[in-house]
Amino acid sequence: MAEKNLYEILGVPKTATDAEIKSAYRKSALKYHPDKHKGDKDSEQKFKEINVAYEVLSDKQKRQQYDTFGSTTGRGGYSGGAGQAGGFDFNGMNFDFGGGGGFADIFESFFGGAGGGGGRSRRSKKAGPMRGNDIEANIRISFEDAVFGSEKELEITKSDICKHCDGRGAEPGSVIGTCKTCGGTGEIRTIRNTILGQMATSNICDDCNGEGKRPDKLCSVCHGTTRVRVKERVKVKIPAGVDNGSTLKLAGKGEGGIKNGPSGDLYILLVVEQSKKFIRDGLDIHGETEIHLLQAVLGDEISVATIHGEKTIKIPAGTNDSKVFKISGEGVKKASGQAGDHYVKIKIKIPDKLSKKERELYVALAGEAGLDTKKSGGLFW
Ligand SMILES: [Zn+2]
Ligand SMILES: [Zn+2]
Repeated sequence: MAEKNLYEILGVPKTATDAEIKSAYRKSALKYHPDKHKGDKDSEQKFKEINVAYEVLSDKQKRQQYDTFGSTTGRGGYSGGAGQAGGFDFNGMNFDFGGGGGFADIFESFFGGAGGGGGRSRRSKKAGPMRGNDIEANIRISFEDAVFGSEKELEITKSDICKHCDGRGAEPGSVIGTCKTCGGTGEIRTIRNTILGQMATSNICDDCNGEGKRPDKLCSVCHGTTRVRVKERVKVKIPAGVDNGSTLKLAGKGEGGIKNGPSGDLYILLVVEQSKKFIRDGLDIHGETEIHLLQAVLGDEISVATIHGEKTIKIPAGTNDSKVFKISGEGVKKASGQAGDHYVKIKIKIPDKLSKKERELYVALAGEAGLDTKKSGGLFW
């Protein structure tokens, strides 16, 4: 094909706007449409040229390339016509532009989608193996289970490969033959009438899912869909040291893959219940313990509850209320060896009932401390 100036083909100046190019294309395309000139090779050729010109000039990048190099291929000249890879089948004629889909896009922008109405997505290729979907699930565990780890069981519902037919969609023992709907091509061709004439589109065959083959008897369990919804009990090993909001990943425990694709993964979000005794902060544990007023004053060795049992610590004489002591390494311990600390806050308990003897001693103590307890009204008898 002789090389022609693409602007001349559409009859627009080099400075034409996108709208002018589009308008010129519509006029020319209608004028030279093959349906109006049946059997006229010149019109057919002209129609092809118009579409090639529009395909280049309507694309900002291609147009710029063409303006700079006089070509979009780098070989000089833009040669349209049959025989290149990719393209579009139009009313029995092949328009191949190498760009793959460019021409179809033109029609879509004019007619609002080549796939036709109905809200179903346009599919033109049969799908290959696909990874199954990931699944997310929650599991509630106790404070202790999060600290020390445990094993739980969880029931999940998921879409999986049909075991009855092994994902083939055919009832065991039945023969898989050519799909009668599409004749084995896996595609259904539809001819639509548009203002530019008839247009052929291919869609994947729904009856065989583009396989071209179909069993003579569909699987009685999945009805040929190859998939079923199943309930599965999954054992979950909870490692020591997990926290509220931790996520565990169980690789391959998600939904089954399609056409031998790998399974998805199962993600488990841990919801950890609170403890009545302790507050957790990462790997550290915070607690409180009560001591007698005299232990605070005189000092003592006391027993403190930690998540690892009772631990003994020394309270120095003159310990104030709310003082916090740290017990190193007695917090949450991870398998990695990482460990937090235990923090204990001292609450001083003031005795509210005194024996006669105790009362006398406290009064004596008060006198020793120079306190006039009768005046202050702190003590009464
Ligand atoms: Zn079919
Ligand atoms: Zn089945």
